[in-house]
Amino acid sequence: MRKILNVETDILIIGHGAAGLFSGAVLSSFGKQVMIVGEGATSTSLSTGNIIFQRDFDGNVEKRKDREITISEALMPYVFREHLDTEFINAEIRAMTAFLLPRLNNCGLVLNGSINRNQVLLTNTGFPYSCTFAQMFASKGDLTNLSEKDIALLGLLGYKDFDPDLAALLISKIMNMKNVSAYWTQISEFRRRYGMHPTEVAHLTHNDGFQEQLANAIKDIDCDAIGIPPIFSLLDYQLRMTELEKRTGREIFEVVTPLSLPGLRFHEALRLAARKEGCRLSEGLKASSLRIIGRRAESAILKGKFMDTEVKFGCLMICTGGLLGGGLIANGNKIADSFDIFQVEKMPNFTYSNTKYGVHSLIQMIANYGLKADSSMHLYLKTGERLENVLGAGSVLEGCSFPAGLGLGGALLTAWISTKNALEVLDQ
Ligand SMILES: Cc1cc2nc3c(=O)[nH]c(=O)nc-3n(C[C@H](O)[C@H](O)[C@H](O)COP(=O)(O)OP(=O)(O)OC[C@H]3O[C@@H](n4cnc5c(N)ncnc54)[C@H](O)[C@@H]3O)c2cc1C
Repeated sequence: MRKILNVETDILIIGHGAAGLFSGAVLSSFGKQVMIVGEGATSTSLSTGNIIFQRDFDGNVEKRKDREITISEALMPYVFREHLDTEFINAEIRAMTAFLLPRLNNCGLVLNGSINRNQVLLTNTGFPYSCTFAQMFASKGDLTNLSEKDIALLGLLGYKDFDPDLAALLISKIMNMKNVSAYWTQISEFRRRYGMHPTEVAHLTHNDGFQEQLANAIKDIDCDAIGIPPIFSLLDYQLRMTELEKRTGREIFEVVTPLSLPGLRFHEALRLAARKEGCRLSEGLKASSLRIIGRRAESAILKGKFMDTEVKFGCLMICTGGLLGGGLIANGNKIADSFDIFQVEKMPNFTYSNTKYGVHSLIQMIANYGLKADSSMHLYLKTGERLENVLGAGSVLEGCSFPAGLGLGGALLTAWISTKNALEVLDQ
């Protein structure tokens, strides 16, 4: 028989993606005991880290007659319901970012973009000379700072994430810069590997000799400024980039790629921030079942390698991610939550989504399902009862699933609103 360890905490958060970690950091900052458990890769770390906040939209479609509305505009009314007035959302976004940004900065993450626009906080540390092909317009101002110099873009064979030929072509066409050339190099650790994921590449950069081979390839290029793909994880970034500049005597900058490390770095920074605020973070533990008595959840069983843990809590937060994250599962043609106890809602059909680009049907298929939550993010049992001390946040919620849902911005915002209500639950 397996041993069971007993643990108590004010708040148990299940799920260690953006929603879970951010909720944990906020709640810990209020002096609450927080335990976060998570198992498996998070969508947050796989993501492009492009955070979109939908400001200045109150759900009034009439006001948007002049243009097609965006996915996030279409989804906001479903996620925030009666909270959806412009002032409320704008104030919450301001308060949330005032909490989040300094903490991320303290953990080494620099965010490009402005929170005064609806988007873009591109979570890339490669500023100020970032360039990108998919997101070219977000950062082309930075590249033009280099217009007087000869710029080289260096690709690593085997790592498809960045294609310098394509990037150089796009930069010269779109930005009319003729001083950009493309180079490739072969790093021995990458040999015989194709289609490596950024996380795998970040891991390989720890191998002895990697930095030396890269430095040698850079030294062979006769250019002032050299752009390399994002290959270092957040924790190594400053050190490795400085080391490369010292070794090569060149100005090295990092390009931003569509499917690259920004999400991983964002995830790392959130983990650090949650830990710094005092959260207990247990990765590799899966919450397998919940004990619910009446309309309250009392405890959860966490499955570990060698023993199980029963965690008793005052409040529970479900931040287990969408279909990709593992918080929702497909069972035949039915979508359920992974504990099979919560009410999963299918959103009503959109009457005003962006049909021109097929967004309507995409939302229908993917973001349609999620846990039913009220405007204070309290969850419901399958039997219809509203749970007193169980709240949800992130892509597990209706309207927040990837790829058509509210994404990272929605994960952070729902987490922010959930944490306020979790504090109220604990104070009752
Ligand atoms: C390739 C890709 C690119 C994307 N790009 C963007 C982008 O640029 N911008 C954007 O806004 N959004 C993007 N998204 C979507 C965005 O990543 C997600 O909406 C967001 O990260 C969801 O965060 P989350 O915290 O809700 O879930 P997740 O980050 O998925 O975290 C949930 C975690 O909980 C774990 N878990 C589930 N059940 C249990 C359990 N019982 N016990 C313990 N742990 C459990 C899961 O395994 C998972 O690791 C992208 C997603 C992907 C996959």
